[in-house]
Order: sequence, then structure tokens, then C-alpha cells
Amino acid sequence: MLGLMQDSPLLISGLIEFAARHHHDTEIVSRRVEGDLHRTTYAQVGARARQVANALDRLGLAFSDRVGTLAWNGYRHLELYYGVSGSGRVVHTINPRLSPEQVVWIANHAEDQVLCFDMSFLPIIKAAWSKCTTVKHWIALCDADALPADTGIPGLRSYEAWIGGESEQYAWPSFDERSAAALCYTSGTTGNPKGVLYSHRSTLLHAWGIALPDSLGISARDCVLPVVPMFHVNAWGLPYAAAMTGTKLVFPGAALDGKSVYELIEAEKVTMSAGVPTVWLMLLNHLKANDLQFSTMTRTVIGGSACPPAMIKSFRDDYDVTVLHAWGMTEMSPVGTVCKLKLKHLEMDPAAQLGVLIKQGRSVFGAEMKIVDPDGRELPWDGATSGDLLVRGPWIVSSYFKGEGGDPLVDGWFPTGDVATIDPDGFLQITDRSKDVIKSGGEWISSIDVENIAVAHPAVAMAACIAIAHPKWDERPMLVVVKKPGAELSREAMLAHFEGKLAKWQVPDDVVFVEAIPLGATGKMQKNKLREQFKDYRLPGA
Ligand code: ADP
Repeated sequence: MLGLMQDSPLLISGLIEFAARHHHDTEIVSRRVEGDLHRTTYAQVGARARQVANALDRLGLAFSDRVGTLAWNGYRHLELYYGVSGSGRVVHTINPRLSPEQVVWIANHAEDQVLCFDMSFLPIIKAAWSKCTTVKHWIALCDADALPADTGIPGLRSYEAWIGGESEQYAWPSFDERSAAALCYTSGTTGNPKGVLYSHRSTLLHAWGIALPDSLGISARDCVLPVVPMFHVNAWGLPYAAAMTGTKLVFPGAALDGKSVYELIEAEKVTMSAGVPTVWLMLLNHLKANDLQFSTMTRTVIGGSACPPAMIKSFRDDYDVTVLHAWGMTEMSPVGTVCKLKLKHLEMDPAAQLGVLIKQGRSVFGAEMKIVDPDGRELPWDGATSGDLLVRGPWIVSSYFKGEGGDPLVDGWFPTGDVATIDPDGFLQITDRSKDVIKSGGEWISSIDVENIAVAHPAVAMAACIAIAHPKWDERPMLVVVKKPGAELSREAMLAHFEGKLAKWQVPDDVVFVEAIPLGATGKMQKNKLREQFKDYRLPGA
């Protein structure tokens, strides 16, 4: 016997119509590429998303056709999210930090029909357009009078001229909620990038999941500033969850330095923010250097790579901001776990609480997880045994776009490539990525543990721990360090800093100081590049 409840599809158009009706005057504030601050509301975003939908109909785009974007976080990007997906097309966010060749490869693979870009990315488009074989329409996300005359890009139009004459009325189509809504490519640290194709259903369920109090917990009383880009797994789903909950949004545009982000947080009374650790490092440096405090921000989501415990502690003890350490990946929409204390932790002293808060957190309902040994046998949740982490659930990938790479699942579970422990309370701790883990004499050394201790040293700005081949031990850890400007630090002092914090055999064999560590398009350290750079390095005594 089936239940007798209505069965309306979960569609992205429903989100923006809900926000436009119930939170019509809630603001969306954007720092534009032009430098000024732009203010709009959910009612206006809804109206202009309908104009986008009409404009796409006029171009003759079919159901499921892809519309590429190369854009910062801003209101026009948000309107595209809703106008493109809501009308049944697929919004394909491209990471503008990729090289023009990679942008071409991805746009061609996705078969983008339209490409909308911020003016700051005009040089990429100029280098790429003639090789993008499927793109028929080029749209610059600017006012009509900001469009340069002689770009050489055929048929280039400004976004405002493109949607300006369209009606603000549009009957959003109803269709199968499993239809494709958004496409995002993994950063492809190994091989070509692969497309992850989100559906309307997966996007809405994920939005519900992240809005829960023990996940990101956002509401109509919040003002959220996503530093995480809308081209990086849809800004972790915040643009959807914000419409679902009527949350005010503040978009930082291209200005991601500590000073600009801090000023925006203060001026707009931001209550929560979200981003990768490298961004918060810049913000914390700015706060320290200028002796500043936050007046409204109470929490910030940090994920994308491991957040060093020293950063979590500094946010809490020096700035009264709770870090929500979160873990996930492009293939997971992206959120899998978020770290929030349970009732029983509230009685603990601050030091013991910190021991919990540094973990990547508990599963959000909808993202099931398990850890297994190399033979696929499930391992215990004892907080000590580490194994390969697998996940499954309604917002986790089942197959890559166009079946690239074959079937990624193992008995219905997606192998994350991460190595983790899970404690009896369900708190996940990522010890490493399987390709970054250091295998020394049959034992594993967590590169994340080593890096976390290194960056707690006051002279260290950034640190990466990589495996170096060793004749006796197979691999041994080496630490690559970027010093803070003007700081003094010797190899010996760095190594001495590990004493008592790690077992002797886990301490790196050597330290190399460099000017910079290569960062990938999403702000993560590219340890594969460092491994390549130091592949012939000989450790002392090896
Ligand atoms: P990629 O970096 O492979 O392009 P993603 O941006 O999807 O792809 O990153 C996913 C990976 O980032 C995870 O598998 C994990 O290794 C790492 N990661 C994400 N969040 C965290 C975290 N909080 N702690 C440690 N690692 C993390």
C-alpha cells in the first residue's frame, strides 16, 4: 500500500519562488568586479532569474543543454543558477583559475552552448573562444555600456542587454526531479577532470541537509558570506540552502584578501562565513596585524582541506568565533560531515572540547559512511583504527558525466580516496588522502598530523609534508615550509618543535624552506607537484 501524500517534484525553481515570496525583501549584497557594492533582494533575483529563463528559451536552448559560467560570487551568477536550472537546463560552473587550455577542454567536454563570464575573465575567453567548438553564445556579465567594442569575440553581448527586454513572468516547467541541474568538474589532480552532474533532487536534499542545526545551521536570522566560490562545488550548496531558509547573502566578488573580506563582514553584519583554510589564514593575519575583532560573526565553516587545530583554537579563543570544521568533496555535493559538539561534550573543559572540534565531524543525515581495510572489510568505529573511507547517499555521485572513468562505485559505495578514523560518537577524522599518506617501514604516517603541528609554530606560514623515497624504510616524511615574512627559523628549530608532539619515527627526516607552495585552483596545496619537484631528493643519512 502506498502512502497517500502529494508527490510534487523537488525542483530548484521552487527554491527561488519560495524565497521571492516569503523573503522578498531579504537582501543579496555583492561586491562587483567594477568595485562597487550592489544590493538586490530575493524578489528581484527571482524576477531576473525568470528573465534569464525567457532569454534561454529565445536562444532555443533545449532541455538539459549546458550553460557555462566563469564567474565570481555575485548576484548575476545567482540569477543564472536559478534561471538556467529552473528552466530545465544545466548550469555548468567552470573554475576560472584553470588555464585557458583546461577551460577549453572542460567547455568542450560539457558541450556548453552558452558561456557567461565576468569581465575579469575576458583575457581567458579571448584566448579560448575560438577553440570552444560547441559554444554559440557569449555573454559578458556586465552592463551594456561596460562592454568593450573590439573584443573579437563573435556575437558577444552584455548580460543586461541579453535579459533586459525579457518578461519577468515565466511558468517554470515541471519535470522529473532526477533531471540534471548543475555540472561541476573535479579539479583533476590525477588525469583529466571528471564531471559530476547534480540533479534537482540531489541539490534540494543536500540543501535541506546542510541547513540542519547540526550541519551549517543557517536561518532567516543569518547573514552568510560565502568566500568559497560558486564555481567550487556550488559554494558548498549555500546559494540553494540560503534561498530555502531566507538567509541574507553577501558575495565578496573578486576581493578575497583579508582586509576586503573583514570590511565586508563588519559592514554587512555577517553572522557566518565559509571557505578553505588558506583564505582564513589571510583573514587571521589581517586581524592580528591590526588588532581587530568581529562584532557580529559567530561562526565560520572551514573545509576543503584539513583546518589546522591552531586555527580552530585561535578563532575560538582570540575572536570568539566557532569553527565548523566540515568535510566533503565535489562528488558529494559536497557536504558529508560537519563538526558540532553533542550534549555530552558541553560539560567538558575547553581543552577537551577542542579535541573534538578539530575533527571533521559527524555525518549529515543523507551521507552514510564506513571505513574499510585493504580487503574491503569494515573497520571498527574506535577513533584509532584508520581505513579507506567510503560513502553513499542521495547526494553522492553514482557515475561521472558521460561515464568517464567507468563505474566509480564498490558495492554501491563511493570510495573517497581519503583515509580516516571514526570514533564511537560518529566523529570522522581524516588522517590523509590515500595518495598523500607516508608509508614508512610498514607503518603509516599522517601528513596532516605533521602539517598541523608545523603550522602551529609562530614562524611558519604554510607547511606540506610529503613522502621521499628511502632505501630502508620505503618512504620517509619531509617537511616543506614557507616562513612568515621576516620570520627566522632554522631546520634544527623546526625539527625540535616536533619533540614530544609526535612519536620519533613520525618526525620528518628533513626540512626544506621554499618561497611558496603551489596551490591548486581551489586553494589547496598541490602535494603532487611538490613530490614531483623533490622526486630525486636525498634525505640525510639515506
Ligand atoms: P579535489 O581537491 O580532488 O579536486 P574536492 O575539492 O572535491 O576535490 O576535494 C575533496 C577532497 O578534499 C577530499 O576528498 C579530502 O581529501 C579533502 N578535504 C575536504 N575537506 C577536508 C577537511 N575538512 N579535512 C581534510 N581534508 C579535506
